[in-house]
Amino acid sequence: MHKETDILIIGAGPVGLFTVFEAGLLGLECILIDNLDKIGGQCSELYPEKPIYDIPGVANQTAQEHVEALLEQIKPFNYEVFLSERVEKIEEISGDEVSSWRVTTSEKNIFEAKSIFIAAGAGSFEPRRPPNIDDPDRYLEKGVSYAVRSKEKYRDKNLLIFGGGDSALDWTVELSDIAKSIKLIHRRDEFRGAPNTEAQMRELVKEGKIELKTPYVIESLIGGDQISGVELKNFETKEIEEIHCDELLFLFGLNKKLGPISEWGIDMNNKKISVDTEKFETSTKGIFAVGDINDYPGKLDLILCGFHETTLAVQEAYRRSNPGERVPFGYTTSNTKLQKKLGVTD
Ligand SMILES: Cc1cc2nc3c(=O)[nH]c(=O)nc-3n(C[C@H](O)[C@H](O)[C@H](O)COP(=O)(O)OP(=O)(O)OC[C@H]3O[C@@H](n4cnc5c(N)ncnc54)[C@H](O)[C@@H]3O)c2cc1C
Repeated sequence: MHKETDILIIGAGPVGLFTVFEAGLLGLECILIDNLDKIGGQCSELYPEKPIYDIPGVANQTAQEHVEALLEQIKPFNYEVFLSERVEKIEEISGDEVSSWRVTTSEKNIFEAKSIFIAAGAGSFEPRRPPNIDDPDRYLEKGVSYAVRSKEKYRDKNLLIFGGGDSALDWTVELSDIAKSIKLIHRRDEFRGAPNTEAQMRELVKEGKIELKTPYVIESLIGGDQISGVELKNFETKEIEEIHCDELLFLFGLNKKLGPISEWGIDMNNKKISVDTEKFETSTKGIFAVGDINDYPGKLDLILCGFHETTLAVQEAYRRSNPGERVPFGYTTSNTKLQKKLGVTD
């Protein structure tokens, strides 16, 4: 397959989705490509049911609701999405005034675009597997998970949560009134997550609603077709203990696998893509990096920062698609074309 567009967006996370909106306002068309099998990036993959409180003007919204709202917002615009495809190769095609880019995916599809927006977040997701366990994935969907897709899955289940970061703490608190029992297991009695969530977790321990087991590490999985328990090793005494459970959640974080991005000849800093703060352009003209994947002084990995970045980057993408033309500026409140598409009459 061979397709052409104005902006080829690598990554269909929140920032990739909002790029479609800002590009659409300027009349630019987009193609989104994501190697996940779903839209929404980290929001849908890592914490769909957790509320987000810092989207401007939205008091709170679960991460999945946020993704749905972004999809609703870009409905009026022309874009296509290709999922379960990884962008592998980027090549320059020289043109009269500005060059274009040819992108090849893992499915051997070819896309041509005037601008490329890398909105690849943390790169391709690879949850960290439990150390020392041979092939834990043999129990995937049979008691072993690396993310919470649905809270209901854990209703009335005996659940073991492993990890010491935000995800492990958040889900321990969040699932405490859903699961039949929860044991949070960590190798030390110190946590890397938000102090407030750690305090909530410790309160639940005091109330007897969950059990905290430190310093423990997993020694082996027990089960036939389905997980039925684990062996834990006390990190200090080295004693082994067997624990029964129905479900295991390994929340050891993600391996930020940049994948092919590091081979595209773009300047990087500490596994992130260096950009300017005027156009959020990389060291290669016509290739922009927005959202969590980029790096500049003062960078914060927050959704709203990504929205700002891509809004400015799209201005330059317009100039590349329409050389010599002034970038139109207008408030959405007076954008009659958009209002027509949305069926707003007044
Ligand atoms: C538990 C948790 C809670 C959070 N809470 C908040 C919060 O309250 N407020 C807030 O602002 N932020 C929060 N964040 C951070 C927020 O989710 C990120 O800032 C945001 O997701 C970044 O969006 P993005 O579009 O840049 O990247 P991502 O959401 O990471 O999406 C990037 C996408 O690119 C894809 N991709 C990567 N490489 C390729 C490739 N080569 N080819 C094709 N596709 C590729 C990935 O599969 C992924 O889907 C939280 C994060 C976590 C983990």
